[in-house]
Amino acid sequence: MEKVYRYIEDNQDMYIEWLRELCRQPSVSAQNRGMKEMVELVKKYLHLIGTDITIIETSGYPIVYGEINQNKNKTLSFYNHYDVQPEDPIELWDMDPYGAIIKDGKLYARGSSDNKGNLIARICAVHAYQQVYGKLPLNVKFIFEGEEEIGSPHLTDFANNHPEKLETDGIIWEGGSRGADGRLHVTLGVKGICYVELVAKGANTDLHSSEAAIIVNPAWRLIWALNTLKDENENILIEGFYDKVVQPNEIDRKFLKEMDFDEQYKLKTTGLDQFLLGVTGDDLKERLLYHPTCTICGMESGYIDEGSKTVLPSKAIAKIDFRLVPDQEPDDIVALLRKHLDKHGFSDIEIVRHSSKNPYKTDPDNPLAKTVIENVDSVYHKPPVIYRNSPGSSPIYDFCSNKDIPVVQIGVAHEDSRFHAPNENIYIKDYIDGIKMTATVIHEFAKEK
Ligand SMILES: [Zn+2]
Repeated sequence: MEKVYRYIEDNQDMYIEWLRELCRQPSVSAQNRGMKEMVELVKKYLHLIGTDITIIETSGYPIVYGEINQNKNKTLSFYNHYDVQPEDPIELWDMDPYGAIIKDGKLYARGSSDNKGNLIARICAVHAYQQVYGKLPLNVKFIFEGEEEIGSPHLTDFANNHPEKLETDGIIWEGGSRGADGRLHVTLGVKGICYVELVAKGANTDLHSSEAAIIVNPAWRLIWALNTLKDENENILIEGFYDKVVQPNEIDRKFLKEMDFDEQYKLKTTGLDQFLLGVTGDDLKERLLYHPTCTICGMESGYIDEGSKTVLPSKAIAKIDFRLVPDQEPDDIVALLRKHLDKHGFSDIEIVRHSSKNPYKTDPDNPLAKTVIENVDSVYHKPPVIYRNSPGSSPIYDFCSNKDIPVVQIGVAHEDSRFHAPNENIYIKDYIDGIKMTATVIHEFAKEK
């Protein structure tokens, strides 16, 4: 790999320019800004490395699918997305979000960490490998979608309608970070999510609050209902909620022990004195990675503006997300929640479903996970930190579940990359290392039996 690493270093200015070109092009899926132009740019770079491209149209933004078929019996796939979050609030940026300026070793731009830095790093790695060796040692597939930041509404359809495009021996998924200690995070699973809205309704209009003596208040109904969902010790009280939870096994616990988590840094950056229930150490890490949650994300009812308004609200809403762990399923959770509310006398409270995603876990002993874990050291000169599971969610299950595809997340971000936030950035060094790491995975995974 030394030759490939040298090629990447000798040509790093070119690879940085490729990234800057992608970052200068806004591609905000939520606002339909620059999406067509971005598809053209992605195609341009895929062409450059000899990719056979298929544009899969959807009713939203297309999936740019590409293959480099080298007639090998092993295939490695890359999933990334070419859309970004809106840049607002623009006044909190210290620079143009689409200027792609480089300052103090960092490149600042919307999308630099999520997800353009990773998308183009995969392409650069293939390019560098081809320049040095001519051909790739395995077949490569690219699945680049343009709707990740709006919930990937067409990814499941794509997976169902194009099973042959999913066929692979493993996927490097989206991205990841390097810790403050310089160690690369390798993530082997995600929590699922089930997002619902609870709606309590009273009279058909807001009323004078004097009528509260005789008219139902939906805000109270909602609060009483919410109060039945969880106790003060963080136990979720929905009957059957934990039934399908698979407890962490020995290997999971081993990874947990080896995983670094900087508690002081987290407390400092969140302005808190302690974590939930005062947990620390392995208990804290176990909660973060392996425990499901029930979170009130927001509530709305009646009057909350300046001063007072004596009103009896006609409606109250709470938005709730459940982060799920294997083998919990969003459909089950909604059914259990309905049953629970009915049983506690809250049949009047309506459940409106929003997005949901199942959890997904990759076996750490599968060849792709092993390849990545064993070769981090050759690029980063430090062993990786393995996240057996990510506390967040990603649409991996929709894509991989019926084929049981190994999925590994690694990427070019760092702890302060500010995904979705002002001053989003990556280190140039992490970007170059990310190209080297991807090339290493291509090289080493091809050798795995
Ligand atoms: Zn994102």
